[in-house]
Amino acid sequence: MAKKCIYCKADIHDDRVLDVCNRCGVGVWGEKMFNAILRNMGEANDKGDLCNSNISSNEPPAKLGNSRISFM
Ligand SMILES: [Zn+2]
Repeated sequence: MAKKCIYCKADIHDDRVLDVCNRCGVGVWGEKMFNAILRNMGEANDKGDLCNSNISSNEPPAKLGNSRISFM
């Protein structure tokens, strides 16, 4: 499925998890940082724990589990 860059609305044709094209990504983060972000997010996506690792950086996993259950 085609995604669009959140900055310039250009189509993104690869399956990256970040909705930012290469040009904007490099402009915002710099080339090294952008590549590192893509690599880190790609690895998290491969393991299937991207959502968990994003949220658990703010909240401890135990608390997250409890709130998720009470919402459902
Ligand atoms: Zn862009």
